[in-house]
Amino acid sequence: MQVIIISVGDELTLGQVVDTNSAWLSARLAEMGILTRSHLTVPDDQGAIVQAVRLATELAEWVVITGGLGPTQDDLTRQALAELHGAPLVLHAPSLARIEQFFKDRGRMMTASNRQQAMAPAGAMVLDNPQGTAPGLRLAIGRALVFAMPGVPFEMKAMFEQHLAPLIAAQAGRTILTRKINTFGIGESMVGEALGDLMRRDRNPMVGTTVSAGIVSIRIRSDFPTRLQAQTELDCVVSVVKQKLGTSVFSEGEVSLAVVVGEILHARHRTVTTAESCTAGLVAAMLTEVPGSSAWFLGGWIVYANRMKTAALGVSDDLIAREGAVSEQVVRQMTEEALQRSGGDYALALTGVAGPEGGSPEKPVGTVWIGLGKHVAVTPAVAGTPAVAVTPAVAGTPAVAGQTRVVAKRFLLSGDRSMIRERAAKAALNMLRLELLEAE
Ligand code: ATP
Ligand code: MG
Repeated sequence: MQVIIISVGDELTLGQVVDTNSAWLSARLAEMGILTRSHLTVPDDQGAIVQAVRLATELAEWVVITGGLGPTQDDLTRQALAELHGAPLVLHAPSLARIEQFFKDRGRMMTASNRQQAMAPAGAMVLDNPQGTAPGLRLAIGRALVFAMPGVPFEMKAMFEQHLAPLIAAQAGRTILTRKINTFGIGESMVGEALGDLMRRDRNPMVGTTVSAGIVSIRIRSDFPTRLQAQTELDCVVSVVKQKLGTSVFSEGEVSLAVVVGEILHARHRTVTTAESCTAGLVAAMLTEVPGSSAWFLGGWIVYANRMKTAALGVSDDLIAREGAVSEQVVRQMTEEALQRSGGDYALALTGVAGPEGGSPEKPVGTVWIGLGKHVAVTPAVAGTPAVAVTPAVAGTPAVAGQTRVVAKRFLLSGDRSMIRERAAKAALNMLRLELLEAE
């Protein structure tokens, strides 16, 4: 079965809103074993909608439209479908009753234009919208079955699950399952080399890579007649891929580096703090985007100017003058101070040249020093436990006794200013992740 998805909206063709509906629908359809033949995007223009739907109904058995079902004058999907169906728009009484009830329940005035949403081409099936006022439509045009749903993403998703998914499940003779594995720290070509033959285009499950903001993701798509087979083959390839890529793999699906780091810190009751120069809070922002981060993120320093590195964090101004702010010695001291002052278990510090100005032959744009510090807590020695602590444990010593270990790494990151900053922040999170894995 072939499906074409049409998105309707001026905001989409003007580039003001990204068409996430088509992406979501295609992914959902693929999961259910149906491949999307193409996506079409048209403005709020009846002629353009008619043309796109006509073309789509000639090429595919199913056409799924989102948008243009609203109450305003620029919502023309309904009219376009009536035109193609060769039928007038007639009032659908149950929809009108539902819309009236929708407004009554919310104590809002219903306008005359909302009545428009209860109109449907004569002969079309009206699909009820559990989340909003605009019902959807289902009708046959030519040889194709056409579905129209509202553009509001959460309404569209709910309607897809209620009206389309059951129909598809009944029809589909195969199952397509997909997984996405995320890696950090190795380039796409290295991933390609590591995976070798697995990436041959004629393989099933099929393995491909995509890169987004410094993260190389491996997408695996398994396409088999039965769900069991698709799942078994997929699981098998996923484990081979993970084994080949080792610790570069940090998560699956949409799980970020910060979430992964947060989960480990949380599970081990450890805390982290940050001292950021070139990223000025980006690492802290990524960490605090994770719900519940207050359990393991203590806070941090934004020490952008050298004066602040000295005043707020106690970095020696002589050291900065001698070595430069972007240097191993400075990042080490930033890390050390952040660790001592916060009393946390881990500290991340960053200093670098994000550009476009400020580069030099020795420190070109993209040079970033990242420090990772660890507070080696002095815990009472337990027989058999490998001692990390430098000094012998003394009874009554506070848990945090001041021994620290700092590693500093120099990165040369590419991209424009914002890419360098983002990659630096992620590289720092990744350093902490790898350290946590090792300490396991
Ligand atoms: P409805 O039929 O529910 O009224 P509509 O397209 O007529 O949908 P709009 O007011 O144009 O209504 O869009 C509703 C919201 O949904 C807007 O915020 C719009 O940006 C968003 N939206 C519409 N189409 C898409 C799409 N394809 N992808 C992502 N967002 C979309
Ligand atoms: Mg619209």
